[in-house]
Amino acid sequence: MMTPQRYRPRRMRLGEPLRSLVRETRLSANQLVMPLFVRSGKRVRAPIPSMPGQFQLSVDEVVNECRELHGHGVSAVLLFGLADRKDERGSGAYAKDGIVPQAVRAIKAQVPGLLVMTDVCLCAYTSHGHCGIVKYAQGSRLKALGKRGSKKQPSAESEFWIDNDATLELIAKTAVSHAEAGADLVAPSDMMDGNVGAVRQALDASGFDRVPILAYAVKFASSLYAPFRQAVESAPQFSDRRSYQMDSANTDEALREAALDIEQGADILMVKPALAYLDIIHRLKQAFHYPVAAFSVSGEYAMVKAASARGWLSERPVWVELLLAMKRAGADLLITYWAKDAAKLLREQ
Ligand SMILES: [Zn+2]
Repeated sequence: MMTPQRYRPRRMRLGEPLRSLVRETRLSANQLVMPLFVRSGKRVRAPIPSMPGQFQLSVDEVVNECRELHGHGVSAVLLFGLADRKDERGSGAYAKDGIVPQAVRAIKAQVPGLLVMTDVCLCAYTSHGHCGIVKYAQGSRLKALGKRGSKKQPSAESEFWIDNDATLELIAKTAVSHAEAGADLVAPSDMMDGNVGAVRQALDASGFDRVPILAYAVKFASSLYAPFRQAVESAPQFSDRRSYQMDSANTDEALREAALDIEQGADILMVKPALAYLDIIHRLKQAFHYPVAAFSVSGEYAMVKAASARGWLSERPVWVELLLAMKRAGADLLITYWAKDAAKLLREQ
């Protein structure tokens, strides 16, 4: 007969009270952030086909949604705006009466206890769908195409580039317009070099030195964003975003990106997407000891929704497991389309 082990891990797995006693990682509603899509109109609650259970909401509906989220214990929302009109320079992004400032004002007035974060970028407002100012190569076929805002033209990367420094000015203006409306945190997602510094400087100069920056420090050029682009109608009309978003293969570069954002004044570091990049979340947490936010993106949500609709997975235990994995990797905040469901579940327990 074998000598029994002195330490038997199974002893502490017998029954939920014991398991719960030694559980290392927990979800908590006050670290959940719900992304919301806001558009013009009244009483609009337009379902997003690729993201079942998510909607494009008019300002009045976004307020109702926020009230409900806050009631369930969710602490924060992250707002994405949809443009009524688009142009080359994304002017709707930094319009003082733009859709995001309108929503921020309404939410802050009617659900004052809820933290309102805003995504700061141009891509939902530009005719070409890129996150910055597009410059076209001399004599480029795209010069004409881009101006007309024409759809999905094949192109080579050599035919255009995104003007980094010209974009910074507009990103900073966008952030200030959100802060003026009362945003509690701003989150620049354009992935231009120097964006966090530009936003910090502009906020400080406008008297918003107390508004923190949630930096999309490490944003990969991911195929998992596809359902989101349907949600905010922001797919690039030509080429892709690989000249500014990060290559999925890189981890050292992720650390350099995060270090730059910290140097420029980032208060929270975000990793996006989450699930395929848990190693990055882990490395960032280990290296910098900063609050880390994991953005569990639309594709992660859509995959689970689609599989569970076919009966191939059971939705709830899967997202619980996925959200725990992000926490375990080192994330503090979880930005997730399951924020409301998770907060409800936590209330029941
Ligand atoms: Zn963008």
